[in-house]
Amino acid sequence: MEERPEPELLERDDAVVRVEATGVCGSDLHIYHGRVVIEPGFTLGHEFVGTVTAAGDGVTAVGEGDRVLGCYCSACGSCFFCRRGDFHKCDEGRVFGHGQALGSLQGAQAEQVLVPHANLTLRKVPHGMSHDAALFAGDVMGTGWHAVDQAGIRPGDCAAVLGLGPVGLCAVQAAKAAGAAKIIAVDTVEERLRMAEGFGAEPVHLTEEDPRAAVKRATGGRGVDAAVDAVGHPDALELAARVTRKAGTISAIGVYAERIEVHMGIVWIKALTLKTGHANVIGHVDRVLTMMAAGVLDPSPLVTHRMPLGEAEEAYAVYDRREALKIVMTP
Ligand SMILES: [Zn+2]
Ligand SMILES: [Zn+2]
Repeated sequence: MEERPEPELLERDDAVVRVEATGVCGSDLHIYHGRVVIEPGFTLGHEFVGTVTAAGDGVTAVGEGDRVLGCYCSACGSCFFCRRGDFHKCDEGRVFGHGQALGSLQGAQAEQVLVPHANLTLRKVPHGMSHDAALFAGDVMGTGWHAVDQAGIRPGDCAAVLGLGPVGLCAVQAAKAAGAAKIIAVDTVEERLRMAEGFGAEPVHLTEEDPRAAVKRATGGRGVDAAVDAVGHPDALELAARVTRKAGTISAIGVYAERIEVHMGIVWIKALTLKTGHANVIGHVDRVLTMMAAGVLDPSPLVTHRMPLGEAEEAYAVYDRREALKIVMTP
């Protein structure tokens, strides 16, 4: 671990949080592999739970000593996009631990983290909720919920979730919570398929089974009302377009950073709606926390590893080998 200067309050609505738990995320892996390029030496990490140790006089929603969780990004609360509730597209939005391109905000895989616009970025951890679970509300479960929300999944719908990493598994739970009657969950990793099954989905192996045939069987040949691409790969997007019914919705929540080909002929002839982008976690976090506190959403089975922050290098290697779902690190 490297020594870094202690973060100091710079603005009236800044807060400093002493990090007590921080996660390793799939998007950290994109940086690890250089698919997303950031400056060397930048602190990674955008999932954190901890205690507020300092707060500017403009911070009213939380105070010193509060146990809080952070959203993965900050938003100003007053620009055109924030006023519309599109906090994820804030003109001054900054993502923790993603380098200069996403706002130069140092990450949370550290002992302390500076949090801008703390009134919006932080939430108190509901009483009785574990660190491990709370960590999910500000990123992974918030993103799973966003994927389902933007897909417009309603009670009685049939959904497909492609890719059962942590976000995909959270999307399975979210689809269930939204009332989906059938959820087809597709991946290649056996444990992930079993976990999705435990959450109420029908597991389908991507290569040993035939996902398109499985969707046809489940929907009387029609296709799912909505498909969530939780992979961020052209093959997943193509499969999503194939298995979604006419006039259905694709929710592409996996990360895309490059130019890819989309079969627009299929999208067009089926009149599909394509929803994309980062998750509006700030917009969803209160609802997600309420559902988690009530047990409607429960990300705790996804925590497979706990490691000290000093072993971050090993944590990234484990995560990269897809041996872990969520690694929670403790400074
Ligand atoms: Zn993340
Ligand atoms: Zn804004």
